[in-house]
This record gives sequence, C-alpha cells and structure tokens, in this order.
Amino acid sequence: MAIEKNLIDELVRCVGRSHVLQNEQVAARAKHFWNAEPRQAAAIVRPATTNEVSEVLALCNAARQTVVTHGGLTGLVDGDHTTEDDVVLSLERMRAIESIDPIGKTMTVQAGCVLETVQNQSAEHGLSFGLDLGARGSCTIGGNISTNAGGLSVLRYGMTREQVLGLEVVLMDGTVLSSMNTLLKNNAGHDLKHLFIGTEGTLGVITRAVLRLRTATTTSNTAFLACPTFNDVTETLRHLDHQLNGQLNAFEVLWKPVVKLNTNPELPGTVAAPIALDENYYVIAEAKGSNASMDATTFETAMQRCFESGWASDGVIAQSTQEQKALWAIRENIELMLAFDPHYVFDISLPINAMDDYVQQLDTQLQRAWPNTQLFSYGHVADGNLHLIIAPPNALSEKRDSQHEQVSRMVYEPLSQIGGSISAEHGIGLTKKPWLSFSRSESEIKVMQSLKQTFDKHHLLNSGRIVDPC
Ligand SMILES: Cc1cc2nc3c(=O)[nH]c(=O)nc-3n(C[C@H](O)[C@H](O)[C@H](O)COP(=O)(O)OP(=O)(O)OC[C@H]3O[C@@H](n4cnc5c(N)ncnc54)[C@H](O)[C@@H]3O)c2cc1C
Repeated sequence: MAIEKNLIDELVRCVGRSHVLQNEQVAARAKHFWNAEPRQAAAIVRPATTNEVSEVLALCNAARQTVVTHGGLTGLVDGDHTTEDDVVLSLERMRAIESIDPIGKTMTVQAGCVLETVQNQSAEHGLSFGLDLGARGSCTIGGNISTNAGGLSVLRYGMTREQVLGLEVVLMDGTVLSSMNTLLKNNAGHDLKHLFIGTEGTLGVITRAVLRLRTATTTSNTAFLACPTFNDVTETLRHLDHQLNGQLNAFEVLWKPVVKLNTNPELPGTVAAPIALDENYYVIAEAKGSNASMDATTFETAMQRCFESGWASDGVIAQSTQEQKALWAIRENIELMLAFDPHYVFDISLPINAMDDYVQQLDTQLQRAWPNTQLFSYGHVADGNLHLIIAPPNALSEKRDSQHEQVSRMVYEPLSQIGGSISAEHGIGLTKKPWLSFSRSESEIKVMQSLKQTFDKHHLLNSGRIVDPC
C-alpha cells in the first residue's frame, strides 16, 4: 500500500524536506550493518528532537502508517527489517551527549548516540560505562536499551538494564513519557522504564536516557588459557571470581574449532595462535582494577593456581595492549565463521553446568543429519551465554529455509527442558518469533500481546516483532 501523499507533506512540514528521504535516497541506504543490499521503505524520516519524534508518530498513527525505528542497524534478529510500505524513524540526528554528572556518576544522552562515544566521553571524566560489545562503533544507546544488550562485561556490571536510570520515550500516539530519573534509589511506584528496556521498540521510541556510570578502572590484565575439560573451565571461573576481588571483567570460552579457525596461518585476517592448540576449551579471562602496583601480581598469582591445579594445561598473560588486542581478536573476529556458506547464527543461554553436554549432543545430532557440519561454539560463558555458528556442508539454495528450520529446532528444542533461553541477548525480533514458546509460557505471551495492544492499539510500531497481535 503506497504511503499517502498528505502524510509525506505533513512529515516534511514537521522535520524539513531534507530529512524525509524517499526513493533513490532510501535505496542508497544499506539494509543492515552486515548487508549492503539497498533498503526498502516508503520514507526514512529523521527527526532532530523529542517533539519532532512525537509529531511524526502522531501523524503516522492518525494515518495508520506502520513505523520501524532505526538505530545503528547492528541488531541480529531482523528487528530493523522494512518493506516498501514502512516508514523508517531514524534517530541518526539525535546523537548528543547532553550532560555528565561526575559526582552522581550519570550521563544524559540522546538515543542516537553511538555506544563508543558514550564510552570515550565517560573516560574523559575518569568514569566508565558498563556496556561493551563488538559493534560498539556503530550501535546506538537507543538500540542497546531497546534490545537490553549484553556484551562482554555482563559478569561484572549486568545487562544494559542495569546501566539505565531514566528514560524518555515517545508512544505511538505521540505521548511523551518522560522518566528521566537520575537517582540510584527511586521506588516511587511502578518503574515504567523497564517496559521499554528489552522490548525491542515495540512499545515506544526511546529518545533520551540517563545512564549510570562507574568509576573507571586503570589496570587491565588479560590471559588466554587452555583447559583440558569443561569442568576445568568452570573451576577456573570459580577460582578467578573468588581470587580477583570483584575485578573479573570478562570470562569468554571458545571451543577448539573457533580458535583453530581464527589462528589458521593460511587464512587472511587471522592472528598467530598464542599457545599450542592441544585442548578442547580455551578461556580469555580479563580483570580490570585500579591498583597499578598490585593488580598484575594478583592476576599472575590467580593464574599460577590454575596451572598448579591442572585446570589450565597451558596459557599466556598478555604483556602489552598490543598482545591483549591479539588475544581478543581470536574471540571477536567472527568474519571467518560467517564466511561459510550456508551458516546459521544462534545466541542462547543455559545453565553453565549443562553447557558441555548440550554442545556435545547438538554436535552429534548435526553430524547425524549433515556429516561434516562445522559447529563453532563460543561465548560469554560466565553469563550462561553461548553463541553458535553452524555451517552444514553446502545445501542447495532452495533447501536453505527448511535446513535453517531443522537446525533451529535442534538448537532450541532441548533448551526448555534444561531451563535455557532461545535468546540470551539479541532479542526475538522477527527471526526468533516462531520459537518464542520454547522459552515463554502461553500466559506470558498473552501478557506481552496485551501490553502491545495497550501501548499501540493499531499495531503500527515495530509491528510483528516478538509477538503477533492476539
Ligand atoms: C559485530 C557485532 C557484535 C555484537 N555483539 C553483541 C553482544 O556482544 N551483545 C549483544 O547484546 N548484542 C550484540 N550485537 C547485536 C547488536 O549490536 C545489539 O543488539 C545492539 O544493541 C543494537 O543496537 P543498534 O543501535 O544497532 O540497533 P538497531 O539494529 O538499529 O535496532 C535493533 C532493534 O532496536 C530497535 N530500536 C533501535 N533504536 C531504538 C530506539 N531509539 N527506540 C526504540 N527502539 C529502537 C529497532 O527497531 C530494532 O528492533 C552485536 C552485533 C554485531 C554486528
């Protein structure tokens, strides 16, 4: 259905001609951070203020026009998907950092602000923001909040939800809901911000936020360890958590196929293996603290104990920032895994003590269905979060949908029995909607549907994400 000419005129009146993009200006935009295909949309609208967002939504609501909100387009569950009938509401002109309070340790930002900008500005005030992830240079605070992003430091600081004190949100009918709380403690009735954190833009558009900052750390120690068994991995985690006095910042586990691929000297873009690859499990452990004279020694002593106890058979401690980066590259470089054709990407969570059996059983099932399937497992294991990239041998393109469905079933179905979740940190979007009942009960889904109905009764905003209308 073509967009009404009247609506376009009204949108132009509201945000200005140069901020309502159409036709070839829309097609010039890429579909996604990872997909250069041209974007499809009736128009891309770029408001500069909360009032403009409010007016744009009210106009679209009155015209029964569907709207999809865009941040940095790094989301991984198709939440940013649009057709030629949708209006895109882009927050790209709302990138300002409005203020920083170094005493209260808060920052007030507009939702289009890029995560890395928040991190850099915090550092200039001796503070840090407790969220970090590989897409830091492109993803926005609005996207992070609406997906309740996890990332590399959840172990220490929690998910994005824990970093948000206040929010300003615009509802589909144009209502501005301002809850720009700056207090750590505020139990004055319902804390409405939580309705908009992790609900993937289905209930409102986040326009501004008050972020909680922490005192910046000044030391950073990183180790790469080889563990003979998964039990050794969990013992290493328990020990480091205890010995590092709350400084353990990241604990990432990589199953051998990931490390072998990302250190293969015959492939472009790889780094040299820091140790011999004789074991099945590899850990990147990182501690961040503030005591320059003590932290390195404490870290080395904790690592020493891992070797003495046999939890780690080999390992290195990075001696420079350069070496730290090289160790992290083994974890963060996922391009080589994504180069397999076809490949299917999963983000799940499950109890840590069920992980190893889960991965082994999944591998058995995959090999039975498609011998020589590559299973790459890695993730923020201390948070119970596994990422899986599964690459079966080449399938005919017409069979891909059904193969993806079969692989998804193998991944998701066992999770309900072991108390896992089909989405650890990426959300549901469009991609995981068919599988939601593996993680949420019928009554939970009904409440989600009725919340959607309350906030957006014509189902126009990020419509079809997470749940369908009841
Ligand atoms: C290399 C890479 C690494 C990643 N690593 C991680 C990771 O470790 N942990 C993790 O959790 N995720 C990770 N992601 C996923 C992604 O970066 C996060 O989901 C991020 O929070 C999305 O932010 P964005 O600004 O790109 O949002 P977008 O992709 O633009 O949008 C994501 C969803 O949020 C909605 N949305 C965006 N802005 C707003 C707003 N202002 N108000 C309301 N709704 C809004 C959109 O409609 C969409 O549904 C990674 C992605 C990449 C490409």
